[in-house]
Amino acid sequence: MNWIADRARAFDSSGIRKVFEMAATMKNPINLSIGQPDFDVPPPIKDACVDAIQGGKNAYSVTQGIAPLRERLTSIVRAEYPHPDRSLFVTSGTSGGLVLTMMTLVNPGDEVVFLDPYFVMYEPLTKLVGGVPRPVPCYPDFRVDLDRVADAITPKTKLLIVNSPANPTGVMLTEEEVRGLAELAKERNVAVVSDEIYRAFDYDGSFVSPAKFNDRAIVIDGFSKSHAMTGWRVGWVHGPQEVIQEMTKLQQYSFVCAPQPCQWGAVAALDVPMDDHVADYRRKRDLIVEGLKDKYELVVPGGAFYVFPKAPGGNGTKFVERCLKEELLVIPGKIFSGQDTHFRISFAASDATIERGIEALRKLAG
Ligand code: PMP
Repeated sequence: MNWIADRARAFDSSGIRKVFEMAATMKNPINLSIGQPDFDVPPPIKDACVDAIQGGKNAYSVTQGIAPLRERLTSIVRAEYPHPDRSLFVTSGTSGGLVLTMMTLVNPGDEVVFLDPYFVMYEPLTKLVGGVPRPVPCYPDFRVDLDRVADAITPKTKLLIVNSPANPTGVMLTEEEVRGLAELAKERNVAVVSDEIYRAFDYDGSFVSPAKFNDRAIVIDGFSKSHAMTGWRVGWVHGPQEVIQEMTKLQQYSFVCAPQPCQWGAVAALDVPMDDHVADYRRKRDLIVEGLKDKYELVVPGGAFYVFPKAPGGNGTKFVERCLKEELLVIPGKIFSGQDTHFRISFAASDATIERGIEALRKLAG
């Protein structure tokens, strides 16, 4: 029986699955494949969640998120942007925000533009809603070529997705790049969607949001990376009221709400300074860049916790297979790109693991 709908075929997780399946068979792998911080959720956040559970706050929350969380996030956003027409709701992680953005804004046949390399979800989610992905290659330096992006925009383009700092490259866009993209979107009447999940991991103090230059920008953010809360599923989206209202309506019939106890944890998270962790990750960034830069062609990441070097030999998949034989787990670039020439290293790992990874990678580079 052919009971699988066509839209499900938009998804192909085989590439990453292969790496994880291999990992399960290894005794002591050097795991530089994981897209989540290696520190645990800070205790005050856990306590607030446990208190919520013990205090009986276990039911559905209102769709838009518990008032204390929504109000705190709203006041942070208001302080940052003067836009009069800006509303916010709490989502089931950044992924939930991305799904609802696509469902709310993309009609079948509409085009969605984003830079290549890109976060794995952008392409399948675009296809899920019947849209057409339009990746814009930005090799070899992963910078924005505004003319190329402008050329990719057609009368059918609905969204321009910006992700800075980026997964998988770690690249932080400059203020000029962000301004260029935000203004281009405005001029061409395209919605700019900014995935800011890595904004806390800003090593050189240069994060700028497209919302600074475009009052209709839709911003998606969350607690997964900043506070190591990937399993808690709490994020938020802010943007023009009309869009947020429609997205909230769709959330009511899909995710329903972010888990209520986790939302109480998230309120506490807003008072937990994460600067020490960010400083530690800056140091890890320096460690991996110093360890590899003479052997690999790489762009120094300004944020997030990834490096995306060129694979020796020029083929990402073949190189990752060689790495797996050495029990080193990294991800082939084709998972994040139309081309298979690079590989992703995550430095969200202990220093000991990073050191082992550097040693193995130096050997593999020959
Ligand atoms: N956007 C980017 C760029 C990501 O790397 C991730 C997680 N890997 C997400 C969104 C999704 O994060 P979450 O749903 O946990 O908030």
